[in-house]
Order: sequence, then C-alpha cells, then structure tokens
Amino acid sequence: MEMDKYVCPICGYVYDPEQGDPEHGIAPGTAFEDLPEDWVCPYCNTPASSMMSFASVMGG
Ligand SMILES: [Zn+2]
Repeated sequence: MEMDKYVCPICGYVYDPEQGDPEHGIAPGTAFEDLPEDWVCPYCNTPASSMMSFASVMGG
C-alpha cells in the first residue's frame, strides 16, 4: 500500500514515509498517520496537524 507524503506549508519540508525522520526517532516506513502526536516539522516545528498531504498540494 502506498503511503502519502506530507508537506510542511511553512518551510516546504516533505515528510516521506519511506525515509521517516531518523534524526527524531522516526523509523523509515512510518506512515504519516502513525507519527507520534508530538512530532513536529524538523525544520520549523510546525505541528503534524498543520501538514498538508502531498497529493492535495500538487493537485493530484
Ligand atoms: Zn516546516
């Protein structure tokens, strides 16, 4: 099953589930939906709840 990428609307960081966020304890293969509640953008600390799905941003 394909996992959605998510984009930070503030800084443009893209969360790629295939890569995770190892520097912050998120293992590769972690779906955005499975991120911890307190996960934030690694660059600008925007909460995960403010991230937008890559598909919605790219119009497809
Ligand atoms: Zn950000």
